[in-house]
Amino acid sequence: MDVVIRNANLADGQQGVDVAIEQGRIVAVGPRLAVQTGREIDADGDLLSAPFVDAHFHMDATLSYGLPRVNASGTLLEGIALWGELKPHLTQQALIERALQYCDWAVARGLLAIRSHVDICDDRLLAVEALLEVKRRVAPYLDLQLVAFPQDGVLRAPNALINLKRAIGMGVDVVGGIPHFERTMADGAESVRILCEYAADQGLMVDMHCDESDDPMSRHIETLAYQSNRLGLHGRVTGSHLTSMHSMDNYYVSKLLPLMREAGVNAIANPLINITLQGRHDTYPKRRGMTRVPEMLAAGIPVAFGHDCVMDPWYSLGSADMLEVAQMGLHVAQMTGQEAMRDCFRAVTSTPAAILGLQGYGVAPGCHADLVLLDAADPVEAIRLRAARRMVMRRGKIIAESPRAHARLSLPDRPDSVNFRLNR
Ligand SMILES: [Zn+2]
Repeated sequence: MDVVIRNANLADGQQGVDVAIEQGRIVAVGPRLAVQTGREIDADGDLLSAPFVDAHFHMDATLSYGLPRVNASGTLLEGIALWGELKPHLTQQALIERALQYCDWAVARGLLAIRSHVDICDDRLLAVEALLEVKRRVAPYLDLQLVAFPQDGVLRAPNALINLKRAIGMGVDVVGGIPHFERTMADGAESVRILCEYAADQGLMVDMHCDESDDPMSRHIETLAYQSNRLGLHGRVTGSHLTSMHSMDNYYVSKLLPLMREAGVNAIANPLINITLQGRHDTYPKRRGMTRVPEMLAAGIPVAFGHDCVMDPWYSLGSADMLEVAQMGLHVAQMTGQEAMRDCFRAVTSTPAAILGLQGYGVAPGCHADLVLLDAADPVEAIRLRAARRMVMRRGKIIAESPRAHARLSLPDRPDSVNFRLNR
């Protein structure tokens, strides 16, 4: 046995269990394991989880905030225009450096798998080459899955479909799309058909930016579910954002959700970005814009939360902290019940792991020893505190450590300073 982690709580509610690790894999999980090892780690009743997974990100744009200027209106459309201004000035070296820096942040936060969209509308495919290089370089410690994303519309932008297929040929994993940004509703539906047929033909997964709009008539998710069902793509198709669903008619949604469930379509909400970008044309009341998360979960549709953006043309904040994402999702969706809060933790761990198709993910015998030890007793406390990552492990090796959150108070009405752990 290489390592045993003693006295951990697990996200499924088990308490005080030991986890034994050998050659990068978990080999046993249970109370007071009688195993000999040279190395023991005391979890001290803290939460030991499989790592965080971000199912929706843009690593080609990350950490470019302010280049060449900031988004003045704060809208999605100005963000897309701003990204268009930046694209001709991108260099591969700068892009790789920013992406690698972001991956360092991710590792420190226990985020060890990311699905990133990469814009393929630039004929040079410079961002594709750069992120494929980043994927190779981070592979020992982070799973980076890439989506060929036609930011300017696969039908609207010249060469976009050709470029998308070139990107897939170069090693990009997933077929992307953006039907609501095509010129017409009809073109949007046509783009969904073309891209799903291509994915079915190639045996690939699909993840489209779908209905990222406050327009309740933006119903491309219906077409995405239809094509997924028709082509037998169950479980392999994901609708990202789905913000128009926030504004849709309730009766229409009562028909839509069973269609999504039947077609095996996954959903990804991006709480930080949706609450920031949507509703910008509203006065008051001002819509929140995030899709109907608890309703989809109740209908049996897997829902993950993505980070989407960190310091880029669309969003000026963010820190690779999926607990911040979960906390925002919890608040915006009013998911305050005990089980709903645990759903929010699953939305940044096991659910996106399943959407990405990660192999060997989990805290069970046979799984990779990829783990994060949080300075919290359970998933709800982890979200509440945005708990420190005491330890991040990849294939049985510790790759990041952070101290527990402590405070020392020196108060005028008390003779001695006070030391305490912030989570107890
Ligand atoms: Zn996105």
